[in-house]
Amino acid sequence: MKILVLGAGVIGVNTAYALGRAGHEVTVLDKADAAAQITSYANGAQLAYSYAEPFASPGALKKLPGYLMGKDAGIGMQLNKSLDFYKWGLAFIRNCTRARETENLHAMLTLAAKSFVAMQELKKELPKGVLSQNPSGKLILTRTEDELQSYGSLTNIKEDYGLGVQMLDKTACIDVEPMLAHWQGDFCGGLYAKDDSVLEPVAFSKALQSAGTKKFGVTYKFNHEVLHMQMNGGKVTGIVTDTGVFACDAAVLCLGNGANAFLKPLKDKQNIYPMQGYSLTFPLGAKPPQTSITDPKNKFVFANIGDKIRIAGLLDANLPDAEIAKRGQHLLRTARKLWPDVADYGAPMNLWSGRRPMTPSSLPIVRPGKVDGLYYNIGHGSLGLTLAAGCAELITDMIAES
Ligand SMILES: Cc1cc2nc3c(=O)[nH]c(=O)nc-3n(C[C@H](O)[C@H](O)[C@H](O)COP(=O)(O)OP(=O)(O)OC[C@H]3O[C@@H](n4cnc5c(N)ncnc54)[C@H](O)[C@@H]3O)c2cc1C
Repeated sequence: MKILVLGAGVIGVNTAYALGRAGHEVTVLDKADAAAQITSYANGAQLAYSYAEPFASPGALKKLPGYLMGKDAGIGMQLNKSLDFYKWGLAFIRNCTRARETENLHAMLTLAAKSFVAMQELKKELPKGVLSQNPSGKLILTRTEDELQSYGSLTNIKEDYGLGVQMLDKTACIDVEPMLAHWQGDFCGGLYAKDDSVLEPVAFSKALQSAGTKKFGVTYKFNHEVLHMQMNGGKVTGIVTDTGVFACDAAVLCLGNGANAFLKPLKDKQNIYPMQGYSLTFPLGAKPPQTSITDPKNKFVFANIGDKIRIAGLLDANLPDAEIAKRGQHLLRTARKLWPDVADYGAPMNLWSGRRPMTPSSLPIVRPGKVDGLYYNIGHGSLGLTLAAGCAELITDMIAES
């Protein structure tokens, strides 16, 4: 089949590769001038299979007033006039029951397990080195024994999906990551997932782009803005861009936060809201870690991405652009205080900000669309890099079965 993939973020690039491998004639359209330039650009670089958990939960509901009143340093939500935000918020609250949390958790772990396996396949297919930057595991620090037990309560469920997580005390955490001996915050232990890893998203996307082009003839058309769809007899026949029309038998929507502008004329807008996050990228410091570390209290991660340290996280809704620099400074101050020698904090900090395309359930929307021949792979929120490989295979299977 002749298939157009709309969007060349991590989701589009993985989708195009999987479709090319399945024997389709694939063209990718993106308005940027290279792959992974928007939300995928300088994200936290985590392949966090073991941490694929929904944001909406009874615990998050309790904290919601604090998020709205600016009392949580890591998560901030400002009210605005957008109906979309209230629609999203109400659906988020509906997802905060224990039953919905459990249902969403199982669905996310299913995708995470599929993505882990799919990534192992990619590892064999891509040139050596692309997927083996830092296979050194992920450690989530906990401050109190209660917190450790509460996070740890999911360990058995995760094991059922083949996602191994160990509960470690403080000494065992330092054995795993000796640089934690210099951590200045409180922690009593952590959860260690040895198979989680770090992957620099731009290098990965470029490697997949190049492998897809060489092996399967996938074509990339950058600087092409997708405008709308052409149909005949209720079926997609082409995509109209600012530079011309591309004919197709099917199209896969991977436009991230741009998806709803495309879906609006089809009257099929999805409940996706952009939630801002930030990252800082520094040269390595004198004592760089090998393991990626998550600090759930401050809501950020430290990842060694080769010759640099990426510090990424925080989550804000409706924050004015003028406040981005302030959030970067908050991230810098907190990181520097907690873990002084891991990064060269005196170097230029390369502040980046991106908007996670979040659904209220945290589950991405991976399914056939409203129109025959149109498929959705959107709404990947906080875990698009982690879930990209599995979701790409799901879409490929759906197209094969159609
Ligand atoms: C601070 C932060 C940290 C994160 N850390 C992690 C992490 O550690 N691990 C993880 O798994 N996930 C992480 N994420 C989430 C992850 O980055 C996203 O889920 C993922 O990037 C979404 O990818 P995407 O391809 O859907 O969107 P994008 O990367 O935004 O790609 C969409 C593409 O569509 C194109 N586009 C949009 N509209 C049009 C149009 N009209 N015409 C043509 N092209 C168009 C854009 O140019 C873009 O290239 C993080 C996100 C943030 C913000």
